[in-house]
Amino acid sequence: IQEKLSALKENTYNTVNSLLTELALDRAAKVDAKIANGDTIGLLEGIPFGIKDVYMLQGTYATASSDLLKNYKSAYTATAIQKLLDAGAIPVVKENCDSFGHGSSSENTIFGAVKNATNPELVGGGSSGGSAVNVAKDYTVFSIGGDTGGSVRQPAGYNNVYGLKPTYGRISRYGLMAYASSTDCVGPIAKSAEDIRIVLNAMSGKDTKDQTTYPSEAIKQESILNTASIKTVGYFKNFVENEAIDASIKTDFLMSIEKIKSKGIQVKELDFFKSDILVSTYYTLAMAETASNLSRLDGTNYGDRIDDKDLKESYAITRSEKFSEETKRRIVGGNQVLSQGFSDEIYLKGLALRDAISENFEKDFNEVDIILSPVTPNTPPKIGDSLKAPLTMYLSDAYTVGFSLGQLPTLTVPQGTETGLQVTAAKNNDELVLKFANFLK
Ligand code: GLN
Repeated sequence: IQEKLSALKENTYNTVNSLLTELALDRAAKVDAKIANGDTIGLLEGIPFGIKDVYMLQGTYATASSDLLKNYKSAYTATAIQKLLDAGAIPVVKENCDSFGHGSSSENTIFGAVKNATNPELVGGGSSGGSAVNVAKDYTVFSIGGDTGGSVRQPAGYNNVYGLKPTYGRISRYGLMAYASSTDCVGPIAKSAEDIRIVLNAMSGKDTKDQTTYPSEAIKQESILNTASIKTVGYFKNFVENEAIDASIKTDFLMSIEKIKSKGIQVKELDFFKSDILVSTYYTLAMAETASNLSRLDGTNYGDRIDDKDLKESYAITRSEKFSEETKRRIVGGNQVLSQGFSDEIYLKGLALRDAISENFEKDFNEVDIILSPVTPNTPPKIGDSLKAPLTMYLSDAYTVGFSLGQLPTLTVPQGTETGLQVTAAKNNDELVLKFANFLK
């Protein structure tokens, strides 16, 4: 634990928002005492992990990498984190990310852009960039990111590690700062499918504090090692053919498909919505939901406030000064699509498209066990580029957001290339994506 804390402290990748030194050392001492006493040690006991800085952990900072919450301390602990604490894991760091999950590069943060683990001139990916880089550099054994539209899968891909967005509702969102509640998911990042399985099992389950959760059975190690049941895989033709996909990503993806075919799996081409439709649907709904969720941040109950003579003016100044440009862009956009005169035309259309996307997936999973796709159409951009071109950044989410809207379990499996392979299964079939990751090995 001491080693991890020192490595985190000295690291130059900007992954750390705050170190949990006292808490970690205290918990480590307790595990040492158990070992000295000859007690049995659980699988996760003593294992150091990182937490994206959007989770509550009582008494520690929860800044969402934002100026508004930079001095805010959690009043309680998130269910997912509490379950890991109960299993004996040791939180060592609150991790840098895009503010409130708004971004795909981990540059929208007051703590400095997260640098890519392989090439520090490139972005670490986002929004859970600090979490993915910490795992890639072995500063943590696993990290807990948050995935609304790709924020676990994309940085996992950019840094060559595993990252799972579980089925929506499998893990409680209680204590995860809400971005877009209808697609927010707690997601583990680690170096193997087996580690993901262990952490997923520890965090899953019904929680009375989050009514969208459902009970699930623990996934067994044997069952993800037995890969014989996978027969058919599909991929979206338009993702590889008609899109602004980098040549290297297309080649890597098609090579993966050939490899899978050569192992006796049947591969089908599938039709899907164009990626610009997926991106606009996702951003319409995500912006609407974040505008609503962040309306409580006016400097009264949470975070810092800039005072003015007039109360309403205080709210306005606090929000104008303390939210980032990207967050304000989303709040303004979200309030626009929800407002009278626009909501029928834009927001309701977004909801209808989301239903159509889910129906499309249901149809697909009658035909195939797994859907494969690249994680992103592009390789990681240089630090500085995404901030200049927000629309280009939104479009880079083209391959991840559809699966979020469908609330499906989907996993980034690193391929030793720049962005990895995205493996998706039908709802509640999280086991199958882990199985497929083992099949790919
Ligand atoms: N990049 C996407 C966005 O900015 C996804 C972010 C996320 O999953 N938190 O909305």
